[in-house]
Amino acid sequence: MATRAQRQYIGGRAVAAESGKTLKVEDPSTGRTIAEVQHSGRADVDAAVKAAAAAFPAWSARTPGERSLALLKLADAVESRKRSLARAESANAGKPISAVGLEIDAVVDNLRFFAGAARNMEGKAVAEYLPGRTSMIRRDPVGVVASIAPWNYPLLMAGWKIGPALVTGNTVVLKPSARTPLTALMLGRIAMEEEIFPDGVFNVITGPGDDVGAYLARHPGVAMVSVTGDTATGKKIAAAASDSVKRLHLELGGKAPVLVFDDADIDLVAETMRAASFWNAGQDCTAACRVIAGPKVYERLVAAMADRIKTIKVGKTEDKSTEMGPLISEAQRKRVAGFVRRIDGKAEVVVGGSELRGRGHYYRPTLIAGASQSAEIIQEEVFGPVVTVQRAKDEDQILAWANDCRFGLASSVWTSDIARAFKVSKALQYGTVWVNDHFTLASEMPHGGFKESGYGKDQSMYALEDYTVAKHIMVRSE
Ligand code: NAD
Repeated sequence: MATRAQRQYIGGRAVAAESGKTLKVEDPSTGRTIAEVQHSGRADVDAAVKAAAAAFPAWSARTPGERSLALLKLADAVESRKRSLARAESANAGKPISAVGLEIDAVVDNLRFFAGAARNMEGKAVAEYLPGRTSMIRRDPVGVVASIAPWNYPLLMAGWKIGPALVTGNTVVLKPSARTPLTALMLGRIAMEEEIFPDGVFNVITGPGDDVGAYLARHPGVAMVSVTGDTATGKKIAAAASDSVKRLHLELGGKAPVLVFDDADIDLVAETMRAASFWNAGQDCTAACRVIAGPKVYERLVAAMADRIKTIKVGKTEDKSTEMGPLISEAQRKRVAGFVRRIDGKAEVVVGGSELRGRGHYYRPTLIAGASQSAEIIQEEVFGPVVTVQRAKDEDQILAWANDCRFGLASSVWTSDIARAFKVSKALQYGTVWVNDHFTLASEMPHGGFKESGYGKDQSMYALEDYTVAKHIMVRSE
């Protein structure tokens, strides 16, 4: 069996796990095994970190222009394989084929952005802050970066991580989620076959988080850990990293509030929620999952959202008309169903609220109205196709409830009053605030959280800063 399993990429070679162990990979829309990959062990992690460390001096010494060119080549190679990557991502992550192409486009755009942006990085202007001493600032790469990615956007999250890390001169060991390793392995193969990076600069290993990920994250040869995942995972990694004071980049959970004031365009809110709450079956850290409406628009909004949610086409991922696919696993479906079951009459299930019979881990698009602010469904990340709507008594309560949450990743404000939009945007404790919109991203703009959503930014120049260290050089100049 081990010989049939897809290889991992270490030091520029496609290799099997030392132990000979493999892992099965499933299509969540059928529950069938579609591939087998290597189950890395300590020896593989050691080899990948060693290869990355050996490649670091030469790679970090290259000019930004040379590293940028490599990233551009990778972007071109991904773009030219868009169809096969989209098919693999759709099958492995349960994404509708009609939607997944946008994610591949976003990866390409992101890599190209970082390729250009890295050539524009600047230190502070050289100046004499003390008499006879000239100071300058460099931004140096950190070293070997462990990039640990989640299952909800496997290739996109891999791209967000490796782009800024590699272009600034770091070397990378990428570990995708054990559920969704296929497109990361394709990325590794593309990079190897096209000789995009020198050997060891970009390594891909596969295996479960609790052993392989944990060992990688506390490896003494790793200088920085970048993880996108659950807040509980981020906390474990932060605790493990404290031993050797590793740098951390943590993109964790979310529970995005949608603040709908009484002067909002209700049809626009309902139409936007149809997509922003249910894209990727709601398995999105910025999903519009927690709508808080003013008293005058609450009833109308619940009705408008219910009408639209009922029209979402759930189906086979390869069917081009499908808008929503399955959840990633049976465990995730059970988890989502548990949240809805525990509402237990304390809120109204307006639409959905049940599993779909048949093969695959499908759950119906679900709308829940009237849950209390302290309810589990309001406070915890469900990570499924479930959106709540709450009625606030006034404007102050809309804002207070929005901020009453341990997460702080993304939010949106819906109003026709521009002054209110500015005032509320400032008061929200979230890393992104959309006004009269939700979900849209740009490679040039940062993505990252407040509070338990973590720290560090993806995308934008801020990510380039996160993957480098500011160094002060002071020269006696007189
Ligand atoms: P997860 O935490 O289970 O796994 C994420 C990655 O961490 C996987 O590769 C996993 O193998 C690895 N991992 C797990 N335990 C580990 C450990 N102890 N040490 C090292 N690595 C470990 O998350 P998931 O279920 O794959 O993804 C869903 C979560 O990701 C949600 O909470 C979601 O909000 C979050 N997410 C956040 C963002 C963001 O930008 N903030 C983006 C996407 C997803």
